Order: sequence, then C-alpha cells, then structure tokens
Amino acid sequence: QPQIVLLKEGTDTSQGRPQLVSNINACQMIVDAVRTTLGPRGMDKLIVNAQGKATISNDGATIMKLLEIIHPAAKTLVDIAKSQDAEVGDGTTSVVLLAGEFLKQVKPFVEEGVHARIIIKAIRKSLQLCMDKINEMAVRIEKQSKEEQRTLLEKCAATAMSSKLIHQQKDFFARIVVDAVLSLDELLPLNMIGIKKVTGGSLEESQLVSGVAFKKTFSYAGFEMAPKSYAPCKIALLNIELELKAERDNAEVRVDNVREYQKIVDAEWQILYNKLAKIVESGANVVLSKLAIGDVATQYFADRDIFCAGRVPEEDLKRTMKACGGAVMTTANDIKADVLGLCETFKEVQVGGERFNLFQGCPNAKTSTLILRGGAEQFLEETERSLHDAIMIVRRTIKHDSVVAGGGAIEMELSRLLRDYSRTIAGKEQLLIAAIAKGLEIIPRQLCDNAGFDATNILNKLRQKHSLGGQWYGVDITKEDISDNFEQCVWEPSIIKINALTAAAEAACMILSVDETIKSPKAGEAPMAGGMGRGMGRPM
Ligand code: ADP
Ligand code: MG
Repeated sequence: QPQIVLLKEGTDTSQGRPQLVSNINACQMIVDAVRTTLGPRGMDKLIVNAQGKATISNDGATIMKLLEIIHPAAKTLVDIAKSQDAEVGDGTTSVVLLAGEFLKQVKPFVEEGVHARIIIKAIRKSLQLCMDKINEMAVRIEKQSKEEQRTLLEKCAATAMSSKLIHQQKDFFARIVVDAVLSLDELLPLNMIGIKKVTGGSLEESQLVSGVAFKKTFSYAGFEMAPKSYAPCKIALLNIELELKAERDNAEVRVDNVREYQKIVDAEWQILYNKLAKIVESGANVVLSKLAIGDVATQYFADRDIFCAGRVPEEDLKRTMKACGGAVMTTANDIKADVLGLCETFKEVQVGGERFNLFQGCPNAKTSTLILRGGAEQFLEETERSLHDAIMIVRRTIKHDSVVAGGGAIEMELSRLLRDYSRTIAGKEQLLIAAIAKGLEIIPRQLCDNAGFDATNILNKLRQKHSLGGQWYGVDITKEDISDNFEQCVWEPSIIKINALTAAAEAACMILSVDETIKSPKAGEAPMAGGMGRGMGRPM
C-alpha cells in the first residue's frame, strides 16, 4: 500500500483539542509573567536583554515587547498589548490578564469536548452585553466649566499613574501632564509634547516649558561669545553642513604649482563664507542645523551676534519648525526672511548639569516640553513611559469625555450582569457565560493579590454590594476594603475598558479558533531546489 505523506517530517502535528489546550497553556505562562504588575501595588519587572541593557518597567506593553516570545499563539497576547498601547496608551496589563483569564475559564469546557465555535459564540455574546452596559453606565462629564474638566482630567491622569513608580508624585505630575495636553491645539498631536530627561535632582524639580526645549548641542570655540537670549527671535532652520569642507574630497583636482593650490583653498573658504553671508543676510538671529556647524561658522555667527547650534536632533528641529513656522532649508541660496521661524523669546538656561535651549511664545502650533529630573537613567525612562500613559489617557478623556470607576468596580459590575443574564438562558451557553463572568473578576482579584489582601474575602464583599445595586464598588487599596470608587475618584476613561475588553475577547476567540499549527522549516534549512549552480550560472 502506498504511503501518503501530507506534511513534511518534523512538523508539529498535534491537532484539535490537544493543540487548543497547549495554546491556552502557553498563554497562561505569558499572563503569569505580567500578572504581578497590575495595579497601584503592582511590582515592577527588571528585564535584561541580550546586550545587557536593563529596563525597569510596570507597563504591560513594554514588558511584553521585551519578553521575546516565540510561541505563535502566545504572540497574539503581545499584539493585543501593543495595540492597546497604541490605541489608548493604558490598560495594557489588564488586556493581557483578561484575555488569559477568559481562556483559563473556558479551558475545562475545551477539555470536555465543547466545540470551540460554541465557546466563541458565548464570548462574543458576553462582549456585546458588556459593551452595552459600559456605554449605559459611563458617566459623561459636561464640558461647560473649564475647572470641572480640569479636575476630571487630573483625576484620570492620577489613576493612570497610581500604579507606577512615580505614584507618590502623581498629583504633581497629573497637573503637569494636564497642563501639557491642554496647551496643545484641538487635534492634540502627541508629538508636540517633547519629553527630555536630565539625570540628577529630584522628581519635583521636573518642569513643563511651554514651547520647544532641547539640550544644548555640541559646540565649538566661539560659542561662549554668542548671545544667549533674544526677543523676538528669528530662527533659520537648516539641513546644511556649515563646516570648512575639503571640496577636493569630492573631486579630483590636478595642480602643478602652489599658486593654483592656493586658489583652491581660497575657493573652499569662499564657498563657506558665501553660505554664511546668505544666512546672515536673511536676518536670522538663531541658526539651527541638523548637521554640524564648525568652528569657523560658530565664530562668524558669534561676531555678528547670532546664536547657532549644530547637530540638533531631527525631532527637535521638526518640532521647532511646526511650532515657529518656517521651513528646513537644504541649501543656503534661498534663505529669505519668509522661510525663517518666529518666536517671542529664546533663552539658554541651566537645568541641573545640562544647558537647555528654550524657544517660547511660538505662534504657529502649541507645543510644550517636559523636562524630567530624577536619579538613575532607568528610573527616568520608566517615568517617561508612565507619563506617556498619563498623557494618552488625558488625550483620550478629552476626546471621549466619559469615565467609569476603576479598581475593579466596572469589571465586578459587568461580571454581575453576565451572571444574572446566564441564569435566564439554558444550555451550554449558560455555563460558558458564567465562566466569562468569573473571568472578569480577575482584575479586582489580582489587585487584591498584588496588594497582599485576602482576595476571596474582598471579592465576596464586592459581589454582595454589586448584587444590591452598588455599581461603583471596587477595591480600596488604601483601606484594605471595598469602597465606592466613583466617589473615591479612581476614574478611568471608559474607552480604556471598552478597548481592553474588545481586544481581550477577540484574542481569546482567535486562539480558540486555531486547532493546528503548521510550522514550515526555517528558511535556510530547506535544501535548495535541485542542482542549482553557483552564482553567475557556473556549475558547482
Ligand atoms: P494597566 O497596564 O492595565 O493600566 P496598571 O498597573 O496601570 O495596569 O493597573 C491598572 C489597574 O489599577 C486598573 O484596573 C485601575 O482601575 C487600578 N487602579 C488604579 N489606581 C487605583 C486606586 N487608587 N485604587 C484601586 N485601583 C486602582
Ligand atoms: Mg495603567
């Protein structure tokens, strides 16, 4: 009897139920890796990569990115964490936890042989019920009064930061973050908030500068003579190298006497001086260039009371351009007054051990820069990530101005809703929806576990409160009890929860709908197709 070979040797052929279970188990491992970071009492992770670079983080998306996961099904969880980070910026740990817990709760059903399609249908149905409920419960905040909006935003930012390293300074940073976001124009472009880090000093010395600020770049002699403040200020933005360049590097020149050689040297100087003269003619008093500005140019500008900085990072140059107008020029020929950027004041100031260039009063776009101070490099990096979460949350809240209570309150309420609903239907779906309801409890449970509370006790209290109509009751981290988290001002934009639940449910459904993984052998390992020659068609 002839043997039929369907798949290459070495492919993982487990199919159907065992495959599903093994995928679910793989996801469980990932969830266990981030589980302990959830919430205000969550722990941080220190991750060291192959190059020995250490990162300390509490942010789900950052940790997942650094974990270098290769299991194909478990990678889905990394993707949802990333998408949550990109879409709303916070709730990245929650989304992974929820997806993992949904899978864990339905695993017994998979093992007993319930068809994956039925489970998926139940998850989708639960998701639908949850979405309707969140939309119904979310509290809209009217935009009438500026003060009210501000307090709301500050509270949301503080909740986002309360689980981070900087939670002790959360009120201080909440104010800064809200100021930064409110200083933007209507579209709230994220890249118009610059974040700069200066090691040293304390966190409270961090400051918000309205306008563009960046570190003083490397500079040459002659720099000390240049003035350090202007008002008003005209900025030439360049992508030109202002250095004495040996033009003979680019071309071959043959000379047979010294006089000819001198001419070439003179010409090289002349090229530079022509460029410089054109820039000065344009009327600019600050010159920024993405490329180097050499010592001759620095001296030349200093003699004419012009400030210059070379090797300005591209993002800073772009931000200056957006904020102050003008255009980045690549040749010195067309520099006229109308391509210059304008701003009210330019200053050079000392921040810790660094000197900063500040451009304030920018007419075109509203922009601001956060200058962070603090101890270690890794600490500042984590601070930056935490502020990023908070900034995203504030932006989201401005766009969709509705909030729900955090600390597991909304999850408990959804869980109650699903459990009540499941009692009204019959069949397998009843058990499945009840399982999802149980899965939602992971958030308050984990918040308690991470804080060292008795989770069973607190969850029992919460279940009872919610069944009596206390819809905003959640975990109270400070009192080791439950409390009305809406009154306690633990607020989160409803969009986080909507996004997290949708992504988690989708990921769970996706993992459940895979019943076989077919891995192709790695490229390179595969034998080459029959008898190809060496390069150029030569025979082997
Ligand atoms: P994520 O990456 O999912 O945002 P976090 O570590 O930031 O994870 O934890 C967020 C969770 O912590 C949310 O469920 C939020 O409701 C909860 N939380 C935040 N602040 C408090 C607080 N003061 N009391 C109780 N729960 C809180
Ligand atoms: Mg968070």
